[in-house]
Amino acid sequence: MTVHPEKNQQVARRRRGATIAEEDYEDIASLAEARAAVQGCRRCPLYKDATQAVFGEGPERAEVMFVGEQPGDREDLAGRPFVGPAGRVLDEAVEKVGIDRARVYVTNAVKHFKFTPRGKRRLHQRPDAGEIQACKFWLNLEVGFVRPRVIVALGATAAQSLLGKGVTIGRLRGTPMTLADGTTLFVTNHPSYLLRIRDPEARALEQAKFEADLAMVRDAVASPAGRRH
Ligand code: SF4
Repeated sequence: MTVHPEKNQQVARRRRGATIAEEDYEDIASLAEARAAVQGCRRCPLYKDATQAVFGEGPERAEVMFVGEQPGDREDLAGRPFVGPAGRVLDEAVEKVGIDRARVYVTNAVKHFKFTPRGKRRLHQRPDAGEIQACKFWLNLEVGFVRPRVIVALGATAAQSLLGKGVTIGRLRGTPMTLADGTTLFVTNHPSYLLRIRDPEARALEQAKFEADLAMVRDAVASPAGRRH
């Protein structure tokens, strides 16, 4: 990535929350700079109503990157990904299958919360293809800097972002894919899907399938082949 002399000035401007010009993007030289810059993003309209952009979190050289859809209500307020109920489901499943959470980077395909106001509540709205494509810029930066060995797309939006096309989760889950840069990609449901299942038996079944998918991720990370760091 190109680094220009005026870089520090541009980064300082972003930290003050100023809008950044399109040409500034190529000057982002680290994950920390990307995290600061995303607050000035105007690549799609979603910045207008959200509290803030929510960037990913985790080690700069994580082996596993989980990619969700977008921040939810709590994440939007907290400015952190996966801190709501779906994040708890993910954390519990990760711990249960034996993936070291401290070595995991979590983020979303879309960095601003898309919602419809309903009284005092803000109801989640799925991002459209244009918003997913616009925000792919930030996900690409995260993948480029973190260089995870394995990426896990949680749900259809994340899979669409990473694969560049709409996909059906049921058709892709359980089979690892290789992205153009050599990263292994797994696709599974978003943990919020599990929370929406009312029937306890059906939920237990889906929970078991989710954990089985994560167990495959654990095994892929443990495998000595293709280590990138
Ligand atoms: S959702 Fe993504 S592309 Fe759209 S304004 Fe926010 S950070 Fe930029």
